[in-house]
Amino acid sequence: MSELPPSSSSDEYARIVKQGYRRLLRGLPKPLSEEDRKAIRNALNLAAEAHRNQTRKTGEPYILHPIAVAQICVEEIGLGPTAVVCALLHDVVEDTSVTLEVIRERFGERVALIVDGLTKLDKSMLSPSFRQAENLARVMRAMLVDVRVVLIKMADRLHNMRTIKGMSHEAQIRIAAETDAIYTPLAHRLGLYNIKTEFQDIFLKIVRPDEYREIADKLAQTKRAREQYIRDFIRPIEEDLRKNMKGLKFRILGRPKSIYSIWNKMRKKEVAFEDIYDLFAIRIILDVPFEEERLACWQVYAIVTNIYQNVPARQKDWITTPKANGYESLHTTVIGPGGKYVEVQIRTERMNEIAERGYAAHWKYKGLKLLHRNENIFEKWFSKIREVLENSEAANANQIMTDFEDMMPEEEVYVLTPKGEIRFLKEGATALDFAFDIHSDIGCSCRAIRVNGSIVPFSYVLKNGDQVSIETDKNCRPSPDWLRFVKTSKAKNRIRAFLKKERFKTAAEGLEILDRKMRRLFNCPAEEHADMLAKWYGFDDRLEFLVAVALEQVDLSRLKELHLENGLLTPTEQPFKTNGTLYPAADDREIGPATHPSNIIINDEPGNYYAYTLATCCNPLPGDNIFAYITAKEGIKIHRIACSNAPYLMANYAYRILPAHWGNTAKSRFVATISVTGIDDGPGIIQRISDHISSMDINIRSFSISGEDGYFEGRIALVVANTHQLHQVIKDLKKLKFIASVGRVE
Ligand code: MN
Repeated sequence: MSELPPSSSSDEYARIVKQGYRRLLRGLPKPLSEEDRKAIRNALNLAAEAHRNQTRKTGEPYILHPIAVAQICVEEIGLGPTAVVCALLHDVVEDTSVTLEVIRERFGERVALIVDGLTKLDKSMLSPSFRQAENLARVMRAMLVDVRVVLIKMADRLHNMRTIKGMSHEAQIRIAAETDAIYTPLAHRLGLYNIKTEFQDIFLKIVRPDEYREIADKLAQTKRAREQYIRDFIRPIEEDLRKNMKGLKFRILGRPKSIYSIWNKMRKKEVAFEDIYDLFAIRIILDVPFEEERLACWQVYAIVTNIYQNVPARQKDWITTPKANGYESLHTTVIGPGGKYVEVQIRTERMNEIAERGYAAHWKYKGLKLLHRNENIFEKWFSKIREVLENSEAANANQIMTDFEDMMPEEEVYVLTPKGEIRFLKEGATALDFAFDIHSDIGCSCRAIRVNGSIVPFSYVLKNGDQVSIETDKNCRPSPDWLRFVKTSKAKNRIRAFLKKERFKTAAEGLEILDRKMRRLFNCPAEEHADMLAKWYGFDDRLEFLVAVALEQVDLSRLKELHLENGLLTPTEQPFKTNGTLYPAADDREIGPATHPSNIIINDEPGNYYAYTLATCCNPLPGDNIFAYITAKEGIKIHRIACSNAPYLMANYAYRILPAHWGNTAKSRFVATISVTGIDDGPGIIQRISDHISSMDINIRSFSISGEDGYFEGRIALVVANTHQLHQVIKDLKKLKFIASVGRVE
């Protein structure tokens, strides 16, 4: 934060503060008590004074930020005066000389508690984001103290995301990734639908700017046609509602889906923008008394499906059983004019408010006797969180993370235990997931599963309302197949842990077998040669090799091909693997970042602080935009931002992503693979291409080529310094007459 430029006079500053105050009061529900009004004015004055000489990265006076956060609390989350006071003060303790004591004296215990929670959250978020699990646990703990801490934090994050342009590219990616890992799922779970959608859209805009722009442009181009279609679609519905439900107060909205959800659909279903049929949803919102809600919604449903043919498989009734986050609505998809699918959402004003504002709105209606059973949805969820946190001392951070992942899924399905207790699992969860959800011992000894009385396969996908019971047998145990039958990370982790333990046992048996053989052949124990033998047999690691030995998948008679000399086993003849035409490989030892550990900067620190390798899926080169990804088992991998795996990693494991960029790479060399195709117009094609590349002073590491009928395809692994050099090679090869295409292999 820097000094305010002298041009903004104190008059101007007072005007900004006053304007903010008026707008805040306008947003709050009337009547506002004199006490609340005074508290808000005092909080604003204190914040304005404390932040007076500070500016934001965008150059604006800092005070605009707390005012904007307070506004979001009021207008978009529906919070009250206490939250406004806290939002105004949220950065005061962290960034200025005002202490928590002062806040406690002037605004009381509750405000001090919330501001303290916000300050602590800020601090934890500043630490290197390696500890995302810890960050998430802190957010959860804060939420249990007072939910408003997290709701205000959400507003804070939303304003920061909206004004993220002022930040460096790296800071943008870091903030976007953290938002995606922590705040987007939380917003979903707390039912803050609009905020969640905005988080996702901004995330996409930062991480995949080209794809974002493309969808935004196409949406703009099709806007007029779409609006006309919506008008045509709505007209008969309006007429029939007026005719058949006299006096019904309603409004109908036609709204486009978010850019993120369109992008997600294109990616998941691998379709083009033009092939997405439901680019928008029609929402019919009824203004009826609480007692008449259900009946009115179903009447409207009958009218809509009378006019348009509905698609039964896509009907969803979240009125009878709301989603775990409190969402209530009746959805159906119908076939509109021109055979287009249109999603129609039917709900009341109350349901709409809960759908958009979530938690805060839910509380507003708390007094109502809701007809469905999960009235205490948030309390239930909080107690689940409390449980995870209490067990977190012993468990490791990754475990907490995956437990939370299961607790904050996109969509949920609810099932019943034999006793009639409701349990929520993420959509797509299987019968076996349910067994592990109850208890990992029950999962591990699961023998059979019944759904609604009948035996089902373990992979049965649970449906809303299924009653599930598990039969166990202590002689039953997980097999690797089980991993294919489960969707939740909890079940996956438990099965893997079990299999790992089993694997070590099997490997021990393998070692015994190998040992007998080695003693007979070479009169030496297997132990000290196991690593070398694993490599010789082509296994990635020793464990895998020993397990294969135990399972009799390794031809141990080949051990005779080895001989023992000076304690070293060496093959009598060098195995020679070939794949197409093999070009003599250049010296490998020069290559790769291992010998130049500091040529990548990860999270603003020299890369040699971390053990990292370059991802083989996209082979990044200096000059490529990159990021670091913390893998579960293989340390940090560096990927290109353009890597085809990047969207998946960022969307699903954003908490494992660190910003990275190239440092001094002048002395390093990297392997990049290019593919070439062309006309095989005579002998010596390999020679000609490789001569050409060598003349540019670039080494070839390997070269394989295949082809028939005068056409060839080749792959050349080059040793280059950066993308510039690579592009130079590609450009140059393209000039050769017999070459049809040249491209980098992603
Ligand atoms: Mn802030």
